[in-house]
Amino acid sequence: MKIYADNAATTKMSKPAIDTMLDYMENYYGNPSSLYELGQRAKEKLEEARAEVARIINAQPREIIFTSGGSEADNQALLSAAEYGRRKGKLHIISTAIEHHAILHTLRKLEKQGFEVTLLPVDESGIVKAQDVENAIREDTALVTVMTVNNEIGTIQPVAEIGAVCRRHGVIFHTDAVQAVGHLPVDVEAMQVDMLSASAHKFHGPKGVGFLYVKKGMPLSNLIEGGAQERGKRAGTENVAGIGAMVAALKESVDKMDEVKARITPVRDHLIQGLSEIPHCALNGDPGRRVYSNVNFCFEGIEGESLLMLLDQKGISASSGSACTSGSLDPSHVLLAIGRVHDVAHGSLRLSLGDDATIEEADYIIEATKEVVAYLRGFSPVWRDLTTGKKPFIL
Ligand SMILES: *Cc1c(COP(=O)(O)O)cnc(C)c1O
Repeated sequence: MKIYADNAATTKMSKPAIDTMLDYMENYYGNPSSLYELGQRAKEKLEEARAEVARIINAQPREIIFTSGGSEADNQALLSAAEYGRRKGKLHIISTAIEHHAILHTLRKLEKQGFEVTLLPVDESGIVKAQDVENAIREDTALVTVMTVNNEIGTIQPVAEIGAVCRRHGVIFHTDAVQAVGHLPVDVEAMQVDMLSASAHKFHGPKGVGFLYVKKGMPLSNLIEGGAQERGKRAGTENVAGIGAMVAALKESVDKMDEVKARITPVRDHLIQGLSEIPHCALNGDPGRRVYSNVNFCFEGIEGESLLMLLDQKGISASSGSACTSGSLDPSHVLLAIGRVHDVAHGSLRLSLGDDATIEEADYIIEATKEVVAYLRGFSPVWRDLTTGKKPFIL
């Protein structure tokens, strides 16, 4: 059996996305800035795409900036708000300990440039409290940035509540909604966000394309200097085929959202139930407030990397922590933030289910994981210390 269970890392492009991409490459290859018909036809497609994205997230077309993906959108949002803050003498930024590295590393850069960053802790289920955000807001707070859905443990944050707090205090609010767009209803008015990042390849669109929503009147600086594309806020000839494909994927994801959620939730719960039978394990993240596709466990006494390799041999593609941290030996910052100790955090497994996941596949994953965990524990020195009482069990 071959099972792709790493959809939080990236998704397979949908048929409508591929068809649209090929059609646009064949037929709309003109430069949207060119005045002749071929260019103008590409421009038309670009503006249709912008209007469609805007409609789906309840925004205005001029509030959508196309980018090269989630990372770029996050960088642009944070650097813009910081630059504006600096002009007003506001050098404080609030975020959380569980953000994606596109946010955390940008914040680290801003710290070196004189900003003070408050990283709010999360509770043991991985949820940020709106009250904590409110308590952290100061006179000189330039920006609050809190992700909508966490990419590792799938927790859904109270973004609308945080948005309300920020509005009340007149602070700019950005959310990294990369794991939410196409999977949960996203409405920028209801969420009361000023900026929102999204990425096509997380909802069956192509890699290397995404968008940033920027509320009208919000100050925006550009990362990339050059031509006047995207109202001068993002230079570079537009990726028309990629953008068209993104919108085709987004439309389909949004249309199928309720149906997919209804079908996959029981598969996820079955998987959580089955994996919970493994001794000395724990579910990471909130059992209820999590995206329907996410399962994340820690198994005591093993290395997540070895678990992944052996699952791969059984045809299962999964991940341990985020794709960006795998390959490094640091345990996931998200698992540490929810209170897992280093040793335990190392033995993590993230399964992010596809739209067509089945109970049979879940059963196969459960059996394979049980087998592999038992096998690895068989020669793990840590496990021996635990079972001989030399070290206490944590889970
Ligand atoms: C994948 C991801 C990103 C980065 O998006 P790219 O398009 O790959 O740059 C940012 N934030 C979150 C939460 C993600 O899951």
